[in-house]
Amino acid sequence: MTAEKLILDGNRVASDIKETLLGRINLLSEKRIVPCLATILVGDDPSSATYVRMKGNACKRLGIQSIRIDLPKNTSTSELIAAINKLNADPNVHGILLQHPVPNQIDERAAFEAISIEKDVDGVTTLGFAQNAFGFADFPSCTPAAIIAILDYYNIPIEGKHAVVIGRSPILGKPVSLMLLNKNATVTTCHSKTTNLEDVVRLGDIVVAAVGKPKFVQGDWIKPGAIVLDAGYNEGNIGDVDYDNCLKNASAITPVPAGVGPVTIAILLKHTVEAAEKLT
Ligand code: NAP
Repeated sequence: MTAEKLILDGNRVASDIKETLLGRINLLSEKRIVPCLATILVGDDPSSATYVRMKGNACKRLGIQSIRIDLPKNTSTSELIAAINKLNADPNVHGILLQHPVPNQIDERAAFEAISIEKDVDGVTTLGFAQNAFGFADFPSCTPAAIIAILDYYNIPIEGKHAVVIGRSPILGKPVSLMLLNKNATVTTCHSKTTNLEDVVRLGDIVVAAVGKPKFVQGDWIKPGAIVLDAGYNEGNIGDVDYDNCLKNASAITPVPAGVGPVTIAILLKHTVEAAEKLT
């Protein structure tokens, strides 16, 4: 008999999060506050434009205002920082999201750092990252927070488990490693220079794929019974894990689409509402 597989349904987790926001948004509106997320898109990368549109639509459906700032491809770092500073100073804007990657001529780190901590709803500033590392961030990065929210929603224990994270980017691999560590997992963070990656992944009770390479994680890398969370989102709606083959060994797995992605957006909305609530 084959053990039952749990498909970790991101749409369900996202609906649950959004449901809890409705009453809070109503309470804010009684105080004449409409939560507002500003997204900045530099250039015309089609997938970035799609992400920004999806976020704007999600805001609208929930009664959150969204402002979209479109800047040309040749925008300089100082021009981008000036746009961010304008949003920092606008009392009606509660969250700022700079869609990345930004064009090469821009110093992305400098631009992220310009976002004021009160409006850093995706945990991209050094301070936001550090607060998350210490375990007291108001707004940890949205995708790492989404991964934890999925584990929590399905009551999947983290404490004492060996979590293997593949990827160490400042907005995904590193913060999710720290969040799992703060929840008492034993964490191994892998990257492009990791040797014997497959053997390391085979140790994971929880495997997080954050690589940016379609179907990168193979089925036989997954320890029987492991939990697999696929943060990847590659062209054609393809995740970073080979879903069909990983499903054979995993006891639970997130699909792509409808896994980590919708929860990431729900967390972004939640952070925007919380940023607005802080003003009350
Ligand atoms: P990134 O900045 O490109 O980082 C990729 C990481 O993977 C790096 O740390 C890199 O190692 C590592 N890596 C690359 N090749 C590897 C290999 N052969 N073996 C082991 N590690 C390897 O990407 P990211 O922004 O973290 O995004 C990762 C994925 O998540 C992408 O598919 C992206 O689309 C997706 N994503 C999804 C959401 C969502 O809402 N679902 C949000 C953000 C990102 P080095 O550090 O050594 O280069």
